[in-house]
Amino acid sequence: MPIRLLDQDVVTKIAAGEVVERPASVVKELVENSIDAGASAISVEEHNGGLTLIRVTDNGHGIEESEVELAFRRHATSKLQSLDDLEHLRSLGFRGEALPSIAAVADVEMVTATSDARAGTTLRLKNGVPSERRPEAHPQGTTISVHRLFHATPVRLKFLKSTRAESSRIAYLVSQFALSYPEIRFTLSIDGRVTLRTTGDADLRQAVAQVYGGEVAGRMLVLSQGPNSGGKVSTFPEIKVSGLTSPPDLNRASRSFISIFLNRRCVYDRMVSRAIDEAYRGLLMTDRCPIVVLNISLPPEMVDVNVHPTKHEVRFRQEGMVFAAVNAAISRALDDAAPAKISPHKTQRGAGSEEQQPLEGAVTSEIPFPEAPALSPAAQSRTPSVTAPDGPDFMKVLGQVDKTYIAAGAQDGLYLVDQHAAHERILFERFKQQLAEKHVEKQGLLEPLIVEVTPEQEVALAERRDTMADLGFTIEPFGERTYLLRTVPAPLQDDNAAQALHELLTLADDKEGPDWPNRAAASLACHAAIKAGQVLEDREAHELLRQLQQTTQPRTCPHGRPTMVHLSSGDLRRHFGRQ
Ligand code: ADP
Ligand code: MG
Repeated sequence: MPIRLLDQDVVTKIAAGEVVERPASVVKELVENSIDAGASAISVEEHNGGLTLIRVTDNGHGIEESEVELAFRRHATSKLQSLDDLEHLRSLGFRGEALPSIAAVADVEMVTATSDARAGTTLRLKNGVPSERRPEAHPQGTTISVHRLFHATPVRLKFLKSTRAESSRIAYLVSQFALSYPEIRFTLSIDGRVTLRTTGDADLRQAVAQVYGGEVAGRMLVLSQGPNSGGKVSTFPEIKVSGLTSPPDLNRASRSFISIFLNRRCVYDRMVSRAIDEAYRGLLMTDRCPIVVLNISLPPEMVDVNVHPTKHEVRFRQEGMVFAAVNAAISRALDDAAPAKISPHKTQRGAGSEEQQPLEGAVTSEIPFPEAPALSPAAQSRTPSVTAPDGPDFMKVLGQVDKTYIAAGAQDGLYLVDQHAAHERILFERFKQQLAEKHVEKQGLLEPLIVEVTPEQEVALAERRDTMADLGFTIEPFGERTYLLRTVPAPLQDDNAAQALHELLTLADDKEGPDWPNRAAASLACHAAIKAGQVLEDREAHELLRQLQQTTQPRTCPHGRPTMVHLSSGDLRRHFGRQ
């Protein structure tokens, strides 16, 4: 075939395909225009998945009569004049492509009026070309009706899912707008039924209530800038993070409840998603996701939204800083709301209020005991004679149940603690800290351990020798795919060190990811923790509880499973019919 220039009509339709992929894209472009026009109320109406009709009405500033046709010309925009403006863009639109693209694939009617116009204007377009213009009464604002979308592009029509699927996309999209613009009153009606109505009173929690329901809204935790729980003040003043995030026990099976808004634009970004996941690591089961409304605001020049016509993807100039700011804000909200630490048990001596020791007393009254309870006979024999196993301000160990759970009594009821999960939590936090400080405590093995690795693991090991050394593994080549292990991270032992190494080598692919320290720490903790079925002496159980009490999340293991069951005094009273 000879090379030819394409017809203008074909060019327009191809370009339109980029912006208008499906009915929801039309809704997105129209609502963004309404927001850019300063509307405080926007209503969206769709019929038949948007294929029969999409109508967006706003009370924004409207379009001058003399400009109504221009608005539908390609690359006609009021939002951008020079390349320079692109750097400081605050509006959602700027390419001047939406209206012409929509008009190229549907029949469009626009009625619009500005505040000073005596009457509004109606413009009709067929096949992208204006076919009729006349004055028409209309309150200030703009109504755009899109009829018979894609009727002239049957191929596009074929690729669409069911109209129900398209409707649900539209509903999702409008919900996202409602969450990112709580000050705008949104109404969505699908096939004549109103499915979403927000009040537009600028309160995010209220918007969450209208989208996800009052119960969810009531439990969401507030994200805020400021010093984090470690006392460190944010070092990125130009990056502002706000919004709401769910406590760990309020979660969903899908990521679609995580909304990320960058300068109020709904975006999908892997890095930001990871920053969120990271903050919840160890608090959620692996297949659960939090509910998040995250607003990131940063100077427009720090981000490039001009990556793709739909502007759904963005490019950050300072990825690491954004990651840290998001992660810190969410972690702080979760820390602040972490379930109260296990209540300290008051001994008989402490029962009289004047005599009670301040809580700090519990922390300083160290009980000399090996760091890792019940790990090896060697460790136990080092145990100096311990004072009373139930020191002041502590849960009293009642015994071990099924060689798996520690039963403990405290002033606020009865606790059953899973010894493995509890120890995992303790070690997870310790390894995490050691990794952050780049100082993992290691211990020499009396006799080096011989480990065999698979070919893939050998490749990983060759690449990650330094990383493994940082983790406390001293590894020497010994033979074909065989290595000598001389030191291991404390408190791993011969019997679990090889397993831990194998797992870490499999994980090592992800070494580059920002969540590597957490994954490594979780893996080490899991292998090093005491197992179910292991007999614990009371003082070992006691020490385990003491250390658990000092973790940031004593009630969940790193995998998000509970470490304990609590029967509160109230529960007990109810059980025994005392109330
Ligand atoms: P862009 O939004 O990228 O500028 P569009 O094709 O979406 O391009 O819109 C073209 C122009 O039409 C806008 O720049 C704006 O001036 C005007 N316009 C579109 N929709 C509205 C609206 N709802 N209210 C007021 N002006 C609008
Ligand atoms: Mg636009």
